[in-house]
Amino acid sequence: MPSVDDAPSADMPADAPVIVWFRNDLRLSDNPALSHAVASGRPVLCLFVHDPQHAREHALGAAAQWWLDGGLRALHADLARMGAVLHVACGDALALVPRMAAQAGAAEVVWNRRYDPLGRETDTAIKATLKHAGVIAHSFAAGVLYEPWTVRTRAGDAFRVFTAWWRAARASGEPLPPLPAPGHVHAAVSPGAWEGCCVGIDALRLVPVSPDWAGGLREAWQPGEAQARDRLHHFVDGGLGGYADARDRPDLPATSRLSPDLRFGHISPRQAWHAAVAAVRGGAAGGMGEQDLEKFLSELGWRDFAVSLLYAQPELVSCNFRTEFDAMPWRNDARDLCAWQQGRTGYPIVDAGMRQLWRTGWMHNRVRMIVASFLTKHLLCDWRMGEAWFRDTLVDADIASNVINWQWVAGCGVDAAPYFRVFNPVLQARRFDPDGTYVRRWVPELAGVPTSCVHAPWTCDPAIRARVAYPSPIVDLQGGRARALAAWKGLSDAPHEDA
Ligand SMILES: Cc1cc2nc3c(=O)[nH]c(=O)nc-3n(C[C@H](O)[C@H](O)[C@H](O)COP(=O)(O)OP(=O)(O)OC[C@H]3O[C@@H](n4cnc5c(N)ncnc54)[C@H](O)[C@@H]3O)c2cc1C
Repeated sequence: MPSVDDAPSADMPADAPVIVWFRNDLRLSDNPALSHAVASGRPVLCLFVHDPQHAREHALGAAAQWWLDGGLRALHADLARMGAVLHVACGDALALVPRMAAQAGAAEVVWNRRYDPLGRETDTAIKATLKHAGVIAHSFAAGVLYEPWTVRTRAGDAFRVFTAWWRAARASGEPLPPLPAPGHVHAAVSPGAWEGCCVGIDALRLVPVSPDWAGGLREAWQPGEAQARDRLHHFVDGGLGGYADARDRPDLPATSRLSPDLRFGHISPRQAWHAAVAAVRGGAAGGMGEQDLEKFLSELGWRDFAVSLLYAQPELVSCNFRTEFDAMPWRNDARDLCAWQQGRTGYPIVDAGMRQLWRTGWMHNRVRMIVASFLTKHLLCDWRMGEAWFRDTLVDADIASNVINWQWVAGCGVDAAPYFRVFNPVLQARRFDPDGTYVRRWVPELAGVPTSCVHAPWTCDPAIRARVAYPSPIVDLQGGRARALAAWKGLSDAPHEDA
């Protein structure tokens, strides 16, 4: 839990600047750190530090780096309109932030809190260094609806079950209303000494050049606060009606697609929450009822729940919550993994999802569950392999959401779907993509295949099958399921340490 912050020291000159350190909050509105800096009346320096080594093996993946590039450019332009500059530095934040604060003669450094294990460790260390140097460090809540330590069981422990956590979270009250963007930022003159550490956004080399594989990402997305606001309003004014029923349909534009905006903080979860609530109460979301609203709010809740689980147990980044899974006899077959990554498994819904991911950096939630179940169960590959691939290819890759959802699907996590619940990709596809629209869009080889067999092309008339250049299934569904259940049963039968 963050400590109560000190008051600024009295001997600090009135024109000593405040540094706003942007991280996962690339926005001007509902940004408490920025609002605090502006309200202080001191000149403001805006800083972003790209720290490629920060998360070590959990460093930002390639697709998320592409998003970050666009997000920084948008923030730079938005700040310029306010009369301020986004200073961008590259290197170890632990060393850079205190040094840059000293060079600027800063009175205060402010930021919005992050909750992942390494982020917390870094921020705690920086806070201590700044304090030692007589610089105030002040942090704010902005990235979640409910901070992890605010929702606890009666005994003061972290919740392990979503429904109980959600009930307690709701009972603690509505999230605070979002703050408006400041009208103007009184920017400080850039310290001369910062020239040595600051670089242009281009110098971060976040976008792929040779080869430039990001064409599909550019077609699908435009990062930035204004675009996020548009996506949010488009959704709450239209898409939210029917959300509870249609959100599982990858063939329909039925979800908000706000996950990368929330990941990089172009909008805050509080803004998403209050916009959805206002749309219901104001009657703007055609046909939307309480059920749609509640479902959407609870999905935002899942995001917070993942954050709170990782906050309580940082080791879940790479360790199974259910330790009996440490003995799981994963096959980890390299050829299977490669077929899965390339969308060439012979199961159309799996391949469609993996190709959508590769092309656009995003995949529908239902399809994420199907492909994750297929990898960990039918192919018996360790969930950490799938998690790593998602981390590299998702524009919304988020350490808490990714790790917790992978563990959930693989059956080894908190509040997990039981391992024996193995998704059948054909039945799932028939249920959630009934006309095959989604599959045909991402697997164009199947465009001419009749709907009756588009989700199981091996059942087509041989004459049609012969014309379709699409791989045969890499695993037999019944056989793969039986193999997974046998492996899992071996775990349940084995004596446990706590038995
Ligand atoms: C194996 C697996 C890995 C995942 N990895 C990530 C990840 O790295 N980053 C990420 O943001 N989401 C992840 N998710 C969760 C979910 O798939 C996406 O958040 C969702 O598909 C985003 O689409 P949307 O914005 O249209 O969602 P909507 O349905 O519009 O939901 C609104 C918001 O709620 C949050 N949300 C919805 N479902 C979940 C969930 N299950 N867990 C956590 N938050 C949720 C997201 O922030 C989302 O933007 C993963 C899910 C699975 C099954």
